[in-house]
Amino acid sequence: MSDVRVIGAGLAGCEAALTLAEHGVNVQLVECKPVARSAAHSEDGFCELVCSNSLKSKDPLTAHGMLKAELRALGSHVLAAAEECSVPAGSALAVDRKRFSETVTERVLASPLVSVKCEVASDIGEGITIIATGPLTLPPLEGKIAELFGSLHFYDAEAPIVSADSIDMSKAFFAARYGKGDDDYLNCPLTKEEYETFYEALVTADRAEAKSFEKREIFEGCMPVEVMAARGRDALRFGPMKPVGLIDPNTGRRAYAVLQLRKENAQGNMYNLVGFQTNLKFSEQKRVFGIIPALANAEYMRYGVMHRNTFIDAPSAIDACFRAKKRNNLFVAGQISGVEGYVESVASGKSAALHVLSLLGGSEPEPLPPDTMMGALARYVSAENANFQPMNANYGLLPQTEEHIRDKSVRRRALLERSLCSLNKYIKKISGEYK
Ligand SMILES: Cc1cc2nc3c(=O)[nH]c(=O)nc-3n(C[C@H](O)[C@H](O)[C@H](O)COP(=O)(O)OP(=O)(O)OC[C@H]3O[C@@H](n4cnc5c(N)ncnc54)[C@H](O)[C@@H]3O)c2cc1C
Repeated sequence: MSDVRVIGAGLAGCEAALTLAEHGVNVQLVECKPVARSAAHSEDGFCELVCSNSLKSKDPLTAHGMLKAELRALGSHVLAAAEECSVPAGSALAVDRKRFSETVTERVLASPLVSVKCEVASDIGEGITIIATGPLTLPPLEGKIAELFGSLHFYDAEAPIVSADSIDMSKAFFAARYGKGDDDYLNCPLTKEEYETFYEALVTADRAEAKSFEKREIFEGCMPVEVMAARGRDALRFGPMKPVGLIDPNTGRRAYAVLQLRKENAQGNMYNLVGFQTNLKFSEQKRVFGIIPALANAEYMRYGVMHRNTFIDAPSAIDACFRAKKRNNLFVAGQISGVEGYVESVASGKSAALHVLSLLGGSEPEPLPPDTMMGALARYVSAENANFQPMNANYGLLPQTEEHIRDKSVRRRALLERSLCSLNKYIKKISGEYK
């Protein structure tokens, strides 16, 4: 009889299963492959990377490097396997995807405490469970999850997010359209010439390749800014770049076109490019959106992405321990929980497993510290947010250091040290709670 059921042997599910087994917990790991597969999965092994083989930066002075440092401190099994299977990729951690999947699969199968059940899960079950079926969760479970949590979102049509301090504020202004409401939007005006240059660059920019199963659904459900632009030279000026009702205080006139930015979080240190969901390659997003004067030196906390993506409405569904608000023995981890990205999925699988260990030890799970990337991400996805979209690791999620440190690398080092210090205290505290 298993103590815990983990559904889905992907990045989150394998991390969770191996963590639980390491602490003596019997796990039933339910995985549909090879009897059934999503349209993006093609291999039989666990932890299949469906797209890029990059797990992003290794540099500890980047947001993804910091996330990895935290996972390393927590003894992540999946990250260790990735590091063992790495291939040269500069400062990025890229893996030989086949070897990576084989390595994790072997470790899961070798664990005497993990029993793998090969089936398409059709229900959530009653016992302690971690749902980790990913962005392409197969039915009928998908329907059961939607029933429990109210609804599921099916598409990622995300606009990029930039850091507030990288926006050229001398070329932007706060205002609400027609003065209705507070000055919630940061407006980035363009002259006619700037708009023409931007428009030409946008419609000719390189797009990321869409997988065949994504094409039909994505273009019916929502429209990338580059697709809208291709419909006509002024389509954006009547859409997300409409200038009406906005007077630029620098000129005293209405601009030819305006991109609006909206605060992404309560601290106001991240801004979303409103209506600019896009499928352009990341380098093209930086180049093309950089033609907008206020964004010339913008730092991207998250690039726009488009793909099919099943995720719960995390703010209403889970708490900062990835635990269902409706059922205290149910956890949701991985991309379906509202985090975005491979390493973020591993991190949420690790967190969910640690919280399950606390529960099994008779303690109330405690969220990871807010000044760690893992804790900040968990807080972000579970915090109230009417326009919730999945989120990846980035510095904008973290509380600032007490004193503002101007030098970027000194600041980042201070954030990293603060995080690892908090995490060590947390590990000491919770390790007494395990069985
Ligand atoms: C098309 C696409 C491309 C992506 N590209 C990237 C990228 O390049 N970089 C990046 O960082 N992130 C990317 N992501 C986002 C995300 O990081 C990955 O999807 C990641 O694999 C998520 O990890 P996970 O553990 O949540 O889910 P997965 O790794 O998908 O694991 C879920 C597992 O659950 C199984 N499963 C599903 N339904 C059932 C069921 N009913 N019963 C039993 N088992 C089930 C699946 O077979 C799978 O093995 C992409 C997502 C998609 C959809």
